[in-house]
Amino acid sequence: MSDPYGKTWWGRKWWRALETIGLNYPDQRIVKGRALAGHGAVEGLSIEPGVVSGRVADTNGTFEAAVRIPVYDASTWTEGMTALSLSPSCVAALLAGRLPKRIDDVLAGAGMRLLPKKYVAEPYNRITTSCDCADDREVCAHIMAVSLVSAARMDDDPWLVLLLRGGPTRDLAGRLRAARVASMDAAQPVA
Ligand SMILES: [Zn+2]
Repeated sequence: MSDPYGKTWWGRKWWRALETIGLNYPDQRIVKGRALAGHGAVEGLSIEPGVVSGRVADTNGTFEAAVRIPVYDASTWTEGMTALSLSPSCVAALLAGRLPKRIDDVLAGAGMRLLPKKYVAEPYNRITTSCDCADDREVCAHIMAVSLVSAARMDDDPWLVLLLRGGPTRDLAGRLRAARVASMDAAQPVA
C-alpha cells in the first residue's frame, strides 16, 4: 500500500526533512503522529511562507504545532526562476504540475535549496519546530502529524513547496517565460 503522506518525492522529502533536526527511526512519535494524522486530528493546517502550522488534538488536549524554515527573498527567487527557466526539462515538469527531481540541482546554481537535506549545515537548510505539549524533543507526535498532513497537501499542490520557501505560486508559466526572456536580453551583446 502506498504511503498517503508523501506520495510524491517532494512530499516525502518534506516530512522526512524533520530528520535534519534529529528525528530517528524507530521512534514512537512517528507511529503516534501517523495515527493522529490518520484520525483527522490535525485542524486548521496552514502552509505559509516560512511556516507550516496546525492544531493537533489528542487525549491530552489540543496543541499548536509549527515547523519553520527560512524563506528566500524576491531577488534570490528571481535568480532561481531564471535558472529553472533555462532548463527545458524543469520547465516541462513544472508546467505539468510536478516538481522536477533535478530542481534542487538546478536551484543550487542560484545558491538555493528547496527541500532541506540531512547532514547539510547551511542557514537555509535549518528547520525549527514548536509545540506547546509537554514533550521537549524537537519532534513530538504533533509536529510529526502536522508534517505528514502538510506533505499530503504538497503532494496534491507542489506550488505549496515554493510558497513555503517564499517563492512564486501564481502564474508560474508567465514567471518562467519572463525569466527566460530577461536572461536572453541580458545575454545580448550591447550595440
Ligand atoms: Zn507536541
